[in-house]
Amino acid sequence: MTVFNGSGAIEPPAVSIDLGFDHDHIWHPYSSMNAPGPLFPVASAEGALLTLEDGRQLVDGMASWWAAIHGYNVPELNQALQHQLPQMAHVMFGGLTHQPAVTLAKKLVELTVPSLEKVFFTDSGSVAVEVALKMALQYWQGQGEPGRQKFLTVKSGYHGDTFATMAFADPATGMHGRFGGLLADHLFAPMPPLQDSPWEPAAMEPIAQLLADNHQQLAGIILEPLVQGAGGMRMYRAEYLDGIRQLCDRYGLLLILDEIATGFGRTGSLFAYEQAGIEPDILCLGKALTGGYLTLAATLTTQRVADGIAGDGDGTLMHGPTFMANPLACAVANASIDLLLASPWQSRVQAIENQLHQQLEACRSLPLVADVRVKGAIGVVELTEAVEMNWIQPRLVDLGVWIRPFGKLLYVMPPYIISAEQLTLLTAAMYQVVDEMAQRSRGE
Ligand SMILES: *Cc1c(COP(=O)(O)O)cnc(C)c1O
Repeated sequence: MTVFNGSGAIEPPAVSIDLGFDHDHIWHPYSSMNAPGPLFPVASAEGALLTLEDGRQLVDGMASWWAAIHGYNVPELNQALQHQLPQMAHVMFGGLTHQPAVTLAKKLVELTVPSLEKVFFTDSGSVAVEVALKMALQYWQGQGEPGRQKFLTVKSGYHGDTFATMAFADPATGMHGRFGGLLADHLFAPMPPLQDSPWEPAAMEPIAQLLADNHQQLAGIILEPLVQGAGGMRMYRAEYLDGIRQLCDRYGLLLILDEIATGFGRTGSLFAYEQAGIEPDILCLGKALTGGYLTLAATLTTQRVADGIAGDGDGTLMHGPTFMANPLACAVANASIDLLLASPWQSRVQAIENQLHQQLEACRSLPLVADVRVKGAIGVVELTEAVEMNWIQPRLVDLGVWIRPFGKLLYVMPPYIISAEQLTLLTAAMYQVVDEMAQRSRGE
């Protein structure tokens, strides 16, 4: 067991992690029980460094999937949890409330656009999206239009792993092949054009046509603003997002923005929608909400949507998870937001963006590289072929970095507190592995 010794330092674990048991009994994300792939035991994490059990230190390029924006073992966040723990670790939210939840809801209402003023807390991002969908469906029920049960989205998106959210994964490359019959049948517009191509208003035409033909059966549009994450790490232009808002307004549809990955500064603004100067009707937050400490998500909406939901019978919003608004998670989220706002996060994200631009550009000339993309504190090298995980993952660890590619994508979204030297290690390792991949595919 790991024991805090009071000074913030951590004693090493007495017994080493039983990798054999893990291998035989535990599923990891998107893994096979029969061929699970290499696995690296982490003993501790501090700042932008993960320390493996064997003592090797890796520079973290993933921020634990967008979440650990302040890095690890953050004194302010530890303290918030230590303060909250003896007060109350958890209490049901039905019929009860508590200070951490009310404080957090106030902060979220203040930080987002003024029209977003109602908050629903959930325990994961996928569930926050499910709640957003329920809000939209119940809104239309309240308007006497219960037939509006479909949503429009764009291809290459990602909104979660639950059944309702998997239905928005790309119909060609996503989950539809495996679970097709069980997934709702929504409408898909082409992917938004990438940010680097000059803006052409004609890019809105396919989606405008889909809406003109189908708007009567739609409840709303759902998409990730400016950066499509797990569906392809694709950045697109604010003009496109603005165009979507205008189309929603034309047909009275609700706009659901999933900022679970982009929220809390990642793209250079606190929320990505700010760069388009638009307001969503429903907003999903998660991942970095607690600075990567605990699982918590939130769905925010407007007075109009709340009133619409209330127009349906007694207006009960049909959701209520066991761990709704968990006090520990809310307390650490409050500390994380305070820490973020007190930090020079804009200049940190800007510095990361500049450095990623400068250092990843060199990858473009490598044989297997299809594209290099940077936006805020996100850097992507898209390859022409899928990486071989059993080779590339240990190789990246050998190079002293924690980067977890998927498919044809090698990408980083480091903690904002990463140093320039640490970031250079990440980009150098990316260049190195892609170069070695090319040599390997030539049989050298
Ligand atoms: C990660 C993610 C989700 C799902 O969040 P979980 O907490 O993993 O359920 C949903 N939408 C986007 C955009 C995400 O990046």
